[in-house]
Amino acid sequence: VFEHVTRAPDIPVYAVMVAYKEDPCPFKLNLGIGVYRTEEGKPLLLNVVRKAEKLLVNELSANKEDLPITGIAEFNKLSAKLIFGADSSAIQENRATTVQCLSGSGSLRIGAEFLAKHYHQRTVYMSQPTYANHPNFFVPAGITVKTYRYYDPTTCGLDFQGLLEDLGAASFGAIVLLQTCGHNPTGVDPSLEQWEQIRKLMRLNGLLPFFDCAYQGFVSASLDADAQPVRMFVADGGECLTALSYSKIMGLYAERVGALSIVCKTADVASRVESQLKLIIRPMYSNPPIHGASIVTAILKDREMYGEWVTELKAMTDRITIMRQQLYNALHDRAIPGDWSHITKQVGMFSLTGLNAEQVAFLTKEYHIYMSSDGRINLSGLSTRTVPYLADAIHAAVAL
Ligand code: PMP
Repeated sequence: VFEHVTRAPDIPVYAVMVAYKEDPCPFKLNLGIGVYRTEEGKPLLLNVVRKAEKLLVNELSANKEDLPITGIAEFNKLSAKLIFGADSSAIQENRATTVQCLSGSGSLRIGAEFLAKHYHQRTVYMSQPTYANHPNFFVPAGITVKTYRYYDPTTCGLDFQGLLEDLGAASFGAIVLLQTCGHNPTGVDPSLEQWEQIRKLMRLNGLLPFFDCAYQGFVSASLDADAQPVRMFVADGGECLTALSYSKIMGLYAERVGALSIVCKTADVASRVESQLKLIIRPMYSNPPIHGASIVTAILKDREMYGEWVTELKAMTDRITIMRQQLYNALHDRAIPGDWSHITKQVGMFSLTGLNAEQVAFLTKEYHIYMSSDGRINLSGLSTRTVPYLADAIHAAVAL
């Protein structure tokens, strides 16, 4: 009965991972990954996560009962506080509902499903380009995906005029997916002044913001500053959705911890919205897992552990910034044709280098350097030791 099933194409980012694994070269370099790596190229388990896990060991092994459909109530409260700020009107007026979901992906998927069922508009606008998985959260829910201009390849920066024009022309009420900070894959974020213009335009046209918050704290190392775009939209009293992920910011990838929040106009609406979210979640996976969300809760509610977390988060962000600077210096020292200042202007874990698919193929074939064909690199995949090697390789690729 399954003979008709055709083979699905490989998912590009995983194909790069497999190719890297199979390459026997001792100095191969993987810049295609979407996770943080240490200076030694190793995954990072945060000390504070280890500590919280130890403290929780008895509690977690004593209780394996199901969580409520919406997850750990305290986790949801603390997650709302993290993204909206403790003094947020949405929290004080109880007009936001927050539910624990399976990381950022699960939060986006549940959010999309909710919108398909309960929102009058069935079109979502996404930045061009965006995280490759973004359309897949919305299309299965029956929502049409359109794009708005975002990245200008001539400057490797923001096409702000294009963005305003496209959002200005979007149909009234359309959903707009926005990345709060550390935009994947471009590393290009609007300034706060630009965000304010985006907010005004979107509110004027009744566009509904859906914020993907996967890198809070990965740009400025200030959790509050990085959440500012969301907070500007919440402060005006209008609706928005947020998908918060703890994968990167606490290094909890495989624990699948995240939270979907829906900010409404009143507490009564928020409570009705939450009741509908339960109906969406229950047939999908019934309730979320307890382990990772317990770790997050323990860290967020304890002043000392919270402080330790912020210090470790800052260390990750600082290392990324150092890698940006070192890469820029190395490219500059080699007098490689082109303006490489975007490497230090871009922010967060990723940089869209401006290398084209042919140059990327050359880097992989001749230098065993792996990245996606759009030229996106993960800065944390670099180290002080490997930066000169990458710069030499780019030098050769640009001379092609
Ligand atoms: N959004 C963005 C922008 C991402 O980069 C990622 C992960 N690469 C995700 C969402 C989803 O990640 P997760 O499900 O692990 O939170």
